[in-house]
Amino acid sequence: MIFTQSKPIDEVLESLGEEKDIFLLACNGCVEACETGGEKGLAAIKGELEKAGKKITGTCLVDFLCNKMLVTTRLSREMDKIQSADSIVILTCGIGVQAVSKVVNKVVHPADNTVSLGGLQGLWPSDERCQACGDCALDYTGGICPIAFCAKGLLNGPCGGAQDGKCEVDAEKDCGWQLIYERLEQVGRLENFKKIRTPRDHSNMLPSDELRKTSFYDIEA
Ligand code: SF4
Ligand code: SF4
Repeated sequence: MIFTQSKPIDEVLESLGEEKDIFLLACNGCVEACETGGEKGLAAIKGELEKAGKKITGTCLVDFLCNKMLVTTRLSREMDKIQSADSIVILTCGIGVQAVSKVVNKVVHPADNTVSLGGLQGLWPSDERCQACGDCALDYTGGICPIAFCAKGLLNGPCGGAQDGKCEVDAEKDCGWQLIYERLEQVGRLENFKKIRTPRDHSNMLPSDELRKTSFYDIEA
């Protein structure tokens, strides 16, 4: 199981900016257990976004957003509502957000942060990866994780060492920031490159005290 914590609503709203029409998507797996998703989480964020003046074009609850086949099938029924939205707000782990971004050509905004508790996502036989950094940046990077897909885990653009789109650390691998550039260009968000992210606070990777009570942290030796 993957552990997540909700992003503060102000952070989600800041990420949405002027986007008005929003499609809401939630996973009903691990995030349901963490109370950062599922039906309850979906209803809570819907209320918050509507209160802030956003229009919700539709909502969808999917059992496991880390199951690509399920995501593709389930979202195909919601395409009209998704396409009429400016973006999708997603309550799930980092893998789930990346999965949605792979199958839908839309701007994505994570509503949760994935934190490190040593858990594993569900059935995900694909190449998306999350390193549970605790401060999900996938809205800024078009749904491609800069920590997992850049060999140096850079947060503010490429190092400049890539050759023909390949990473200078490992020429067998694509440069993560080249992929991010191409994705942002595809969804019309290249202006994201003008935003500067502050250095990573590694203490974000630690779960809250409340979450720790649910894990091996509390088991006495
Ligand atoms: S930015 Fe990457 S490592 Fe951090 S929570 Fe999002 S997907 Fe996971
Ligand atoms: S070449 Fe690209 S993926 Fe490799 S370290 Fe530099 S920015 Fe990161």
